[in-house]
Amino acid sequence: MIKQVRANYDAPTIEKEIQEAWRSNDAYLKTKAARADGKKFYFVDGPPYTTGHIHMGTGLNKTIKDILVRYWRMNGYNVRDQPGFDMHGLPIEVQVEKMVNVPGRVNRDGKPDELGIRSKKEIEDVVGIDNFVNTCMKHAMDLRVSMTEEFKELGVWMDWDHPYQTIKKEYMESAWWTLQRAYDRGLLNPASRVVTWCPRCETALAEAEIEYWDETDPSVMVRFPLVDDPSVSLLIWTTTPWTLPSNMMVAAHPDFDYAKIRFSGEKGEEVAICMECQAEYVMKKGGYEKFEILERFKGKDMVGIAYRPPYDIDPKYLKRSEYVFKVVNADYVEKDNTGLVHTAPGFGPDDYETGKRYGVEPFCPVGEAGRYTEEFPLMEGRKVKTANDDIVKYLKENGFLFNTEKIKHRYGHCWRCKTPIIYRNTKQWFINVPKVKDTMLQEIDRAKWVPDWAGSTREKNWVDGARDWCISRQRYWGIPIPVWECKCGERKVVGQISELKDGDGYTEGMDIHRPWIDKVTFKCPKCGGTMTRIPDILDVWFDSGVAAWASLEYPAKKEEFEKWWPCDFIVEAHDQTRGWFYSQLGAGVISFDRAPYDEVMMHAWMLDPKGQKMSKSLGNVVVPKEVISEFGADALRLYSVRANAPWDDTCFQWDMKKNPPLKEGPKNAWKVLNTYWNVVKFASMYMEIDGFDPEKHPIADMERYFRGEDRWMFSRTEKMKKAVTEGLESRELHKAARALEDYIMEDLSKWYVKLIRDRSWSEDEASQNDKLASYYTLYYAIMQTAVALAPFTPHLSEEVYQHMGGKKLTVHMEDWPVCNDAFIRDDIEHGMSLIQELVETIATERAKMGSKLRWPLKQIFVCGKDSGSNDAVRMFDDVLKQQGNVKEIVYTTSDRLPRDKEPTSYSDGQIVIDFDVTPEIEAEGYARELIRRIQQMRKDMKLNVEQFITIDVSAEEYLTKLFGTWKDFIAGEVRAKSIAFTDSPKGDEVKTWDVTGKDITIGITKL
Ligand SMILES: [Zn+2]
Ligand SMILES: [Zn+2]
Repeated sequence: MIKQVRANYDAPTIEKEIQEAWRSNDAYLKTKAARADGKKFYFVDGPPYTTGHIHMGTGLNKTIKDILVRYWRMNGYNVRDQPGFDMHGLPIEVQVEKMVNVPGRVNRDGKPDELGIRSKKEIEDVVGIDNFVNTCMKHAMDLRVSMTEEFKELGVWMDWDHPYQTIKKEYMESAWWTLQRAYDRGLLNPASRVVTWCPRCETALAEAEIEYWDETDPSVMVRFPLVDDPSVSLLIWTTTPWTLPSNMMVAAHPDFDYAKIRFSGEKGEEVAICMECQAEYVMKKGGYEKFEILERFKGKDMVGIAYRPPYDIDPKYLKRSEYVFKVVNADYVEKDNTGLVHTAPGFGPDDYETGKRYGVEPFCPVGEAGRYTEEFPLMEGRKVKTANDDIVKYLKENGFLFNTEKIKHRYGHCWRCKTPIIYRNTKQWFINVPKVKDTMLQEIDRAKWVPDWAGSTREKNWVDGARDWCISRQRYWGIPIPVWECKCGERKVVGQISELKDGDGYTEGMDIHRPWIDKVTFKCPKCGGTMTRIPDILDVWFDSGVAAWASLEYPAKKEEFEKWWPCDFIVEAHDQTRGWFYSQLGAGVISFDRAPYDEVMMHAWMLDPKGQKMSKSLGNVVVPKEVISEFGADALRLYSVRANAPWDDTCFQWDMKKNPPLKEGPKNAWKVLNTYWNVVKFASMYMEIDGFDPEKHPIADMERYFRGEDRWMFSRTEKMKKAVTEGLESRELHKAARALEDYIMEDLSKWYVKLIRDRSWSEDEASQNDKLASYYTLYYAIMQTAVALAPFTPHLSEEVYQHMGGKKLTVHMEDWPVCNDAFIRDDIEHGMSLIQELVETIATERAKMGSKLRWPLKQIFVCGKDSGSNDAVRMFDDVLKQQGNVKEIVYTTSDRLPRDKEPTSYSDGQIVIDFDVTPEIEAEGYARELIRRIQQMRKDMKLNVEQFITIDVSAEEYLTKLFGTWKDFIAGEVRAKSIAFTDSPKGDEVKTWDVTGKDITIGITKL
């Protein structure tokens, strides 16, 4: 049964009701169950990091997923839609550090200063790793719960009661298994390397965990006097003076020209060596006025020149070898500054490689917390970045400083705590990605990428340049790396929890996080000693990389894996080229020699209106909650996918206040949905009043009563379905959304509903079938739209579907509406498009002539370029008369067009409009003006459409005479039992109107 929808499209209220209904009738579970026998489709949700709240980007991401999952389900697929959450890692550790108290800690004045952990030492010695990890666990769970609520508010249907969580034992076990695979294949190895390091978090960081912004640092040129002739110096340049204590070499480019140069000026003179082309630049920096080249040589001829470093390091810490404190060669040296590069293998990745080539060991007198160690007693305990000024002071006092100034340059910072990173030489664990790179590249080719270049260009470029993946972190809240080592060098990598049973300290069902897992030891099979776990945990990117099988709990459980594997589809934002697309590809190739996915769709970001990334520090963040409470989740969803192609960034726009108005913004999307709502309101109201039951009027019966405009509407509806389907299939969601929008705005609301208004009002027995034909057509259009809209705007679709007598428990159980080609009529669409054009042409010409739309035109002459085009217009003769408000249409040929009037062109010919106003036309014009005023008053009085009234009208005699001839028509149109012309109109509502300069007073009485 069709029930009238409420008056206003109050989206936030309607959405809450719908969500409540879904909850109480188990709509989600039942919809899923209804497809349980369908073809299996394995979708893997890229797990968002548990931050507790969703932002516009996560909103867009889940919207795309929800649209596609609903679409596939409507196409009969049994879709696996388990959501995931990425719950380990530094962000949560950093938050927990801020929340936890350190008992007994006092500040310098001896007062208690307990809030917040400040170092790893406090975690280990005061708080306890167990307490810390338990707090992280609880915090991550809380964040997951609040995030889930926000996803639900967005209308996302996923298996929220059974998410996969990277912190669950079964999940972690899969990651272990993958690492064991890597180890068995010789792909997992420890190595001593220079890595990016956060001195506050005291851990290695990956490139993806570093944020860059400008920092001001010292820029110094330093003299290194030659051992053979201390009056001559090598000039090196650096922005990290704190690394000078660990200087081991100076690098020159083998092929560039260097020179021994005398610099001179008022302040005196000195001899130094630098790159020849930089002589003048260096001269100015040193405050000299002149320079003179004394000797030239190539970089390659400088190798082995010995110099004196600025600091004397205790020989017990320094490993001497041939090239220590000598010039060496390196290709990465550039033609800038002095052209001689200070080389500290303990603090730079390139430096480290150079050291390796020349057999020079790194000297790294800096501890995990970024403070100097006893190996550099001069500054032991000082934080390195704060030591810069003192180092520069020392250089100056001891004659090493040639020049110092400040520079602003891009510098890396820890993604979580924002501390400037340093480079440090440490032992880390690496996955040898280059070794499996070829398979990874082949797998990119095998998988389908949307758009294609996301794989063929972006992902391939990234994989092509891939280096070893540092997977170890020196923290607590993560998957422990399952490597046990013995002092003798023996090593064991555990792949499954069952293997722990062989160890000491294992108890059944134990938590395998730190610190509990650290207590498990094994007896060394080689020397009988004790094997202990290395303390490191995994890079969180590795956690999510194994999602496609870890969420199925493989290999501990086989059943789910056999049912679903491999993954059919993933979709994430473009920053995942280096993230999840990549980590899954690597982990998949290691485990299964294949990418875990078959199709990857890439989407873009939601930026601020100026195209900047939304961020707290810029204060430009808009969150989905704000938009939802204003316009509803459906408007946000429609807007998100409608604004741009999924892979093009969208600059979020709130509204249309801009000039010219933006056709974007959730408000615009709301307007589209509101327009649809108004169509439904109109239809459901009349259909309910008339008790219209579409079941009783099957299309086979109705077809013979269809008018041309009904057939046109069917044709447009099928074309809309076709376009939406194509957009979804090609993942061009913007095209699908725009097809729906155009259909609702142009075809349905602006045209068809206007054409059938009179038919819906008709109470005449003879025209009942004509009315039913229009009802049926409108009903069909509304329901097909509700079903096609369902993936995009799930709440509104549901509300409409339920009110329009939908048969299923929920609209989301419906089958996807497939285009019925039999309804497509290009000839009819062509004819109607000519009518629409002519109506517009007439309106434009009327405006030029000052002729009011409500006043009928006497006649128009239509002269198509051939008889075919006149026939096309004639097909909708009635529509043209009605919509153009024309009394008579004369079809003619160009030689018979009236000569006294100017013709107007349209795309298929010419028309001539006769603007003569006859007394009949004047009467009808005024009658229509009167009707409009009465209708307005009925509306203002909030009269229901069935309400009968009586009318009093007062106007000058000339007008009352005109009205008299139209009395019955007027009464019929406004549902009046009587119309009286009187000098003093009475009624429940009385109002005087100005109609083309004449006063007309109307009184309306409710019957
Ligand atoms: Zn940090
Ligand atoms: Zn051993």
